[in-house]
Amino acid sequence: MKYIGAHVSAGGGVENAPLNAKGIGAKAFALFTKNQKQWNASPLTDKSIEAFKKNCADNGFIPEMILPHDSYLINLGHPEEEGLTKSREAFTDEMVRCEQLGLKMLNFHPGSHLNKISPTECLKRIAESINLALEKTTGVTAVIENTAGQGTNMGYLFEQIAEIIGQVEDHSRVGVCIDTCHTFTSGYDLRNKEVFDQTFAKFDEIIGWRYLRAIHLNDSKKELATRVDRHHSIGQGFLGMEIFEVLMNDPHFDEMPIILETPDETLWAEEIRLLYSLVR
Ligand SMILES: [Zn+2]
Ligand SMILES: [Zn+2]
Repeated sequence: MKYIGAHVSAGGGVENAPLNAKGIGAKAFALFTKNQKQWNASPLTDKSIEAFKKNCADNGFIPEMILPHDSYLINLGHPEEEGLTKSREAFTDEMVRCEQLGLKMLNFHPGSHLNKISPTECLKRIAESINLALEKTTGVTAVIENTAGQGTNMGYLFEQIAEIIGQVEDHSRVGVCIDTCHTFTSGYDLRNKEVFDQTFAKFDEIIGWRYLRAIHLNDSKKELATRVDRHHSIGQGFLGMEIFEVLMNDPHFDEMPIILETPDETLWAEEIRLLYSLVR
């Protein structure tokens, strides 16, 4: 079965996210457990944690279908000591918040070298950052998202993600989230069944299906291999519609959160209905 949802607002408290997800007919959802544009956040209150768990249970959301996303400020491969330390502390704090909410995954962009260290050194730092966070927490899997490769962002090649995973000590707690927009603009075609299957065969060969934990389902405002990260609403961008029909009918993507991060949230309910209508 497919679990489609969207990255919904947690405005007013994390406990509102499952209600917002229910409101659009989602079976999965993503959220920020703190303000994604600020370093510091007050700890989650017991009241908020209990309400979150209750609202998830009451509306049929199991932890395996909830994919929190970390703050955009965090750079786990930061070239400088201060930025690296700050990022590692913030990332561990986000893992702890997930643990408190009873969640199983934390989704994040790997990091950027900022032209100050080599890509290899950056990937090594990212893996070390993951190891440090996994040591300090239990039960939460670090889910690496592939990127569009904008600027000095790492993780736009499957090889780079495999290199990070190879240096993570606990392979049972590291996974991958594939973003369809990022995959396409980083240079892997997905527009029809043939190229879609080729791209995922490459994914399997280099990373492995066993690491795939989630999908971000987005169309793209930019063309193939432009290395620009601009999401578009389903069917309105350069990806076209066939990719979505192929994905909805491929059992590799069953039993995992499939999350819309499309720009027009007023379309989410309609997009979810449209995607389910593609199942043959
Ligand atoms: Zn994404
Ligand atoms: Zn993106």
